[in-house]
Amino acid sequence: MTAVAKLKDIWVHYEGVTALESVNLNVEEKDFIGIIGPNGGGKSTLLKVMLGLVEPSKGKVEILGLPPKKNAHKIGYVAQYRNFDRNFPINVWDVVLMGRLRHAGLLRGYGKEDFKAAAEALERVDMLDLKNRHISELSGGQQQRVLIARALVTQPKLLLLDEPMSNVDSAIQKGFYDLLAELNEQMAIIMVSHDISAVSLYVKKVACLNKKLYYHGTGQITAEDLEATYQCPVELIAHGAPHRVLREHPR
Ligand code: ADP
Ligand code: MG
Repeated sequence: MTAVAKLKDIWVHYEGVTALESVNLNVEEKDFIGIIGPNGGGKSTLLKVMLGLVEPSKGKVEILGLPPKKNAHKIGYVAQYRNFDRNFPINVWDVVLMGRLRHAGLLRGYGKEDFKAAAEALERVDMLDLKNRHISELSGGQQQRVLIARALVTQPKLLLLDEPMSNVDSAIQKGFYDLLAELNEQMAIIMVSHDISAVSLYVKKVACLNKKLYYHGTGQITAEDLEATYQCPVELIAHGAPHRVLREHPR
């Protein structure tokens, strides 16, 4: 079976900065991987490498067996920064349709298929009723659902979420995770976050990233991985975090 994504010995250098060091990662069908790491640890860069937006200086990336540029349309992506200009007149429906641009083509314009895909995606995230609402008039959680709908309109096999919880207050995170669990029945999901408590309860597998990726393909990471990633003692990091992040260890 072809892996959804395969990264082999990936290195990324920006001017003077090494962002990723020899990262290896296999994403299987139905995986739901949470990747945690400090700010500047390379999380956004890793997602961009999978999308073909950042070219690694070394290493090989495959998305469903092909180079990222050939298969990026099989990936749904919700980027980290998403500030909507309040004066820019765009409603929910248009934001979601924009996800079909590559399919529709700038010249041909949107067709029936595009409208159908947009309506289905909005229905899926429970936002169809608000399709005429201006995007800036939504709560953080609602905006996030709309952006997920936009990522879904191309029927992706892999969904990449960059810090998806940062605009979602904790009271509605549960509903958001329920949505992700449903989507995960049809696609692999990777979410990255600097917030250790944001990912660990719901995801199936956990990894740590700080230039190097610490990943064992399981739901657990070790105290050593956490210390290497955050470069501070585990007692500090694990405070308040769900216990399953750490394997049981003798006192
Ligand atoms: P994270 O998402 O974990 O916060 P990033 O992937 O955004 O980390 O950044 C990793 C490192 O690469 C940081 O040191 C950041 O400053 C640097 N970096 C990211 N993007 C660029 C860029 N376009 N040009 C130069 N340096 C960058
Ligand atoms: Mg980032």
